[in-house]
Amino acid sequence: MTLPQRVSELESRLAEIEGKHSAPVRRSNYNCDSCFAPMNIVGEEKLDRMDVLGQVVHKLQCVECGRVTRKIFTPDDDYI
Ligand SMILES: [Zn+2]
Repeated sequence: MTLPQRVSELESRLAEIEGKHSAPVRRSNYNCDSCFAPMNIVGEEKLDRMDVLGQVVHKLQCVECGRVTRKIFTPDDDYI
């Protein structure tokens, strides 16, 4: 196999891998504190607390200004 062939094969394989890793964007129901645009959930951290079941910290990013914030999310009360 020649080098250009090898490179294009690697490129197509890389595109395939990147496609698989682009997880669907999750939209939160929290709006940005500065521009009030919707925010996407870009990360999630479990809280090690037994008193509030299912409570997690969502890392949110604004779709407009890119501002990143962390909010505690509870299944019952939404963002607190
Ligand atoms: Zn914003």
